[in-house]
Amino acid sequence: MSRPILQTLLRDARLPRLEVRMLLEHVLNKPRAWMLAHDTDPIESWQAQQYQALVTRRLAGEPMAYLVGHREFMGHDFAVTPDVLIPRPETELLVETALAWLADRPESAVLDLGTGSGVIAVSIALGAPQATVTATDISATALQMAVRNAARLNARVDFAQGSWYEALPPRARYDLIVSNPPYISRDDEHLGQGDLRFEPRGALTDGANGLRDLTTIVNGAVDRLRPGGTLWVEHGWDQAAAVRRLLTNAGFKNVSSLRDLPGIERISGGSL
Ligand code: GLN
Repeated sequence: MSRPILQTLLRDARLPRLEVRMLLEHVLNKPRAWMLAHDTDPIESWQAQQYQALVTRRLAGEPMAYLVGHREFMGHDFAVTPDVLIPRPETELLVETALAWLADRPESAVLDLGTGSGVIAVSIALGAPQATVTATDISATALQMAVRNAARLNARVDFAQGSWYEALPPRARYDLIVSNPPYISRDDEHLGQGDLRFEPRGALTDGANGLRDLTTIVNGAVDRLRPGGTLWVEHGWDQAAAVRRLLTNAGFKNVSSLRDLPGIERISGGSL
């Protein structure tokens, strides 16, 4: 391929403008302002080829976050690969709720179960630097990602590998437990659509009705929280009442749900 000028590529109509720009920023490794100032520059043919390859993958449905290798969450830039779920804006509600709770109890021990790329644990550690944050995941490749993100953002987080509470020393206790577990039902048709097709199945569905891992987390929290301790979990749009019931049945008090920006009851929690 000859050397096209940047402007020609920026006008590529096969994808939304924002996506074109994000792919070019990634290929050229330059910020937007640079591209606007250099839009009549010819670009190297290997970069043009790399760009074309990314467009082809994007047109086949691969998520932007995997193509460019990162995604913003709570104002921080996190590395992401297909080993981990892509951070969702609605999960910021879980982090904001945790940080509000920690504002009155800054030296708390916090546990994030199933951390994936580490966005929740790292954002809490950065927003509440006096807290002690532990994060778990059953997936070794996910934990590597989380470790990398903690290092890249200078967050102090302890990591442990294993299934939910099994990752932890038997006597470890926490003041606040948070989790965004897989909560999509095995039969949900969304698993075969859009970005979800490319994300790790084990981070999306519990392989059951969507409440299996949530149940494990809620019931297990009773033995892992200190008196007065609090649990908040993220769940699906239609699971709030079921999760509140799980919390109440497990002995939690002050059980409530909070709505995300689109108005969906997205997290539920309670205290002991
Ligand atoms: N919120 C994600 C979705 O609906 C699911 C994430 C999860 O299962 N924790 O795409």
